[in-house]
Parts: sequence; structure tokens; C-alpha cells
Amino acid sequence: MTNIAIIGPGAVGSTIAFDLKHLNSHLQLLGRRAETLQFYANGDKKTAYTLDVSPLHAHHQPVDVLFIAVKIPQLDSVLSEYNHLLHPETIIILAQNGQGQLPKFNHPHVYQGVIYISGQKKERVVTHFRDHKIILERNPHTQKLAELVSASPLNIELTEDINKAIWYKLLVNLAINSVTALGRSTASVLEVPGIKTLCRQLLLEGIAIAKAEHILFEHNIVDDILEIYEGYPSNMGTSMYYDILANKPLEIEGIQGYLFSIARKHQLETPILDTIYALLLAQQPILDK
Ligand code: NAP
Repeated sequence: MTNIAIIGPGAVGSTIAFDLKHLNSHLQLLGRRAETLQFYANGDKKTAYTLDVSPLHAHHQPVDVLFIAVKIPQLDSVLSEYNHLLHPETIIILAQNGQGQLPKFNHPHVYQGVIYISGQKKERVVTHFRDHKIILERNPHTQKLAELVSASPLNIELTEDINKAIWYKLLVNLAINSVTALGRSTASVLEVPGIKTLCRQLLLEGIAIAKAEHILFEHNIVDDILEIYEGYPSNMGTSMYYDILANKPLEIEGIQGYLFSIARKHQLETPILDTIYALLLAQQPILDK
């Protein structure tokens, strides 16, 4: 029987745990403390399920598959206390937005997931809105994992071009997260004069940075992403928006900060990104992670 653990009992981690309950595997959802969560699946607000969380620091057997679904500023604390869960062949899936965190791992089988799971955690209640998809690079490990979870609602999609999938999500997050966080407003901020133009300029800089890394997109990608934004309900928040309102550390390091560092590496001029990044850093609370 496969041993699976998920670290991070939030919106994404709880959904992965809920989905994988369908498998004949030994499954643990691990968090900072022992607790029981209420979980609502697929936007159904009537049926509450329960999910039990065990503390990460407690003694656990090493696992074969480990999903890490904490926010980027929380990753370092997880990496300082998760070694007891690993054996040499453990497959680790980093279920996070953004890019640039893999070099922090000292383990041979770590894969960045591109997450299409939408949900929110408030206190001990997790509401999953929609989607159950994680995109991973195709290799023998991820192939095996995709086969393992195929009997569950979790959809592991394998791609030959993981960098393009990661960068696409990075670009989609880049503009909308920036303007909702700095505007302290939901997607309704897009109706403010000048904000759509700002998004376009930011995306154009992001695409130039991607190009410098040999990640090439179709010519209409900016319009496509702006169209995705147009489809957002005006009351929809982004995770960076909710984090800034809650005075929590932001995932800047893996999104705007990551792009900023790659732009510097290639000596690109990115005045809009530089401004947005500095303003976001200025909002960053000095908090314990
Ligand atoms: P979240 O709801 O804030 O969940 C993170 C969970 O990790 C929280 O339960 C947190 O516990 C726990 N945690 C923090 N530090 C920990 C530690 N040291 N040990 C164990 N558990 C720890 O975050 P999320 O929304 O699931 O996001 C996870 C990642 O997925 C992020 O990169 C996010 O950008 C990405 N993502 C999210 C969505 C979405 O719709 N939510 C969609 C796509 C991608 P506490 O509650 O005690 O802080």
C-alpha cells in the first residue's frame, strides 16, 4: 500500500486529501497542530465533510508520496521539520503557485506542480470551489503517480513542457494578484480607469522575461489573459488580496520577486514590474512565518 502525506491543511492541501481519500492508500494530512476541519467540496455549501489533521512534528513513518501545499513564505519552516517523512525514493510534489523554490530542496525527486484547484480556508473551515487539477512534468515517477491517483477525483495531467505551464500560471497570477493586492480590492479593481492598461503593461514585461528564458508564448497571450480576467466575478478576490487584508506574508518571492530576479539576470528593463515589486515589498508585514 502506498503511503501518502500532504503537508498544509489549507484550501489546496485539504482538497488533495479529500480527493485522495478515494484511494486504497494510507493517507495523512499534516499541519501545525492536531485539529479537525470542516470541508465543503465542489462549491456545495450544504454537505460538510470532516478532515482530520495530525501535527507535522509528531512521529510519522516515511511516505512514498508527499504533497507540500503551504504558501511560499511558509515553505522554509516546513523544510526545517519534514525530513522524518522522507525515504530515498519519496516523490515530493510542490503544490504551490509561483516558481523558484525547488533549489531549496535537498532531495532527488521533487516536482513543481501547477495548481488548478480553487478554494479558501477560514479558521477551521475549508471551502473548495472548483477544479481538481495538478499539472506535472512527465517522467517515470510522475507517470506512476498519475496512474496511482487515476481512481480518485484528483486529475494529474502530465506535460512534456512543464516550464511553459509554470510560466503561463505565473503570468496569469502576476497582474491580477498585483492589482488586487495593491488596490486592496477584489477583481472589481479592473473597472478602475487605467488598471487594465497597467495589467497589459505588466504582462508584456512578464512575457519579455519569459522570452529571455526561452519560454515562448503565442502572440495573443496578453489578450487571452486579459480575457480570463474579464471572466472573473467582480467580487472574486485573489490569494494575495486576501493575504494582504489579513496582514499575512505575501507570496511575492515566488511571483513578482522571482520575475524581478530573472529580469535582472538578463538585464531587462522592467519599470512597471520594478515599481509593483517595490510597492508590494513595502506592504510586506514583518511577521513570524
Ligand atoms: P492556505 O489555505 O493558506 O493553506 C496553507 C496551509 O498550510 C494552512 O493550513 C497553514 O496552517 C499550513 N501551514 C503553514 N505552515 C505550516 C507548517 N510549517 N507546517 C504545516 N502546515 C503549515 O493556502 P492555499 O490557498 O492552500 O495555498 C497553497 C498554495 O497553493 C499557495 O502557493 C497558493 O498560491 C497556491 N494556490 C492556491 C489556490 C487557491 O485557490 N487557494 C489556487 C491555486 C494555487 P495555518 O492555517 O495554521 O496557517
